Amino acid sequence: MSHMFVPGPVDVAPEVLAAQAKPMLPHRSKEFEEIFRRTEAKAKQLFFTEGIVFQFSGSGSALQEAGIRNFVQESVLACVNGAFSQRWSEVAATNGKKVDLLEVEWGQAISPDVLADALKQKHYEAVTIVHNETSTGVMNPIKELAAVVHEVSPDTLILVDAVSSLGGARIEMDAWGLDWLLTSSQKCLALPPGLALASPSERAMKKAETVENRGWYLDVLRMNKHRMKDSTPATPVMPLIYALDVQLDRILAEGLDNRFARHQQMAECVNDWAEAHGMTNFAAKGCRSHTVVTINNERGINISELNKFLLQRGMRISNGYGKLKEKTFRIATMGETTMQDVDALLTAMDEYLAK
Ligand SMILES: *Cc1c(COP(=O)(O)O)cnc(C)c1O
Repeated sequence: MSHMFVPGPVDVAPEVLAAQAKPMLPHRSKEFEEIFRRTEAKAKQLFFTEGIVFQFSGSGSALQEAGIRNFVQESVLACVNGAFSQRWSEVAATNGKKVDLLEVEWGQAISPDVLADALKQKHYEAVTIVHNETSTGVMNPIKELAAVVHEVSPDTLILVDAVSSLGGARIEMDAWGLDWLLTSSQKCLALPPGLALASPSERAMKKAETVENRGWYLDVLRMNKHRMKDSTPATPVMPLIYALDVQLDRILAEGLDNRFARHQQMAECVNDWAEAHGMTNFAAKGCRSHTVVTINNERGINISELNKFLLQRGMRISNGYGKLKEKTFRIATMGETTMQDVDALLTAMDEYLAK
């Protein structure tokens, strides 16, 4: 197994890869419907929900768009503290919605007080928040942010992108009162790309009934009508559903809390390594991601040279994202990565730096 310490796509376990090679079935067959039903039942545990989990053919960005098209008629507040939250604001704008930005410096979290102030000034149908900003390595305090939305503006829907954290850190859909929680397959779920999962709240589904021009492919009401028959409006990405079935068993066998703790320990270990080598974490203290560490490249390491060195050992890390490309590098600690893998990586990096 190669070791990709990049924030998606991540390594996929051989048996999960192999599950994709099972023979196809007619998607409207009892056999496939049974698989589809049980993958949803298992996925609900990852979302901490008793409600719906949609299994959608497409990547996570499609479900950012679905959140906008289904739950926002006119106005949305986009919390922006990195490249993926910026993307979500652009998704809203390009779908013709009025978007106000609540911008916070990259590397900082969205603060509940600042969000409360913004909601007191103006009413919004929804607010978009990225739980784990993969570009900066910041994990936003979703539980606290959701609590202030409920308090200050109770009818505002809370749309959350957890593409690089769901299944890797605790996010409780029902208990925290989230309204749309979405993720993709190729990050913490350690599946190949092309499948996206999302859970809507009951009130979000009610809201969708009032929103015009939800479109066809991303319409949650149409999706739900088919879901009730263990199916989808269009042909689902069946190989990935087969893989999801196997991978969810593996994730649940590890135990969610064990999985969350494993990621957090690895992230702390990477952070400590960086500090011991005279570099700092780009993310502010108190809001550091458990699934990806963004390190200020204060030693001016040539990341592409480093990666050439690491690749000879079957490993690779990631440079910074977008405007941070040259200034930072990123080490992901998500998916199936173990502490042993991290030790091997950091040992190799030590070797490179000692050269
Ligand atoms: C990777 C990522 C996305 C984009 O997901 P795709 O599956 O590539 O569409 C969106 N948001 C976050 C936080 C991400 O890390």
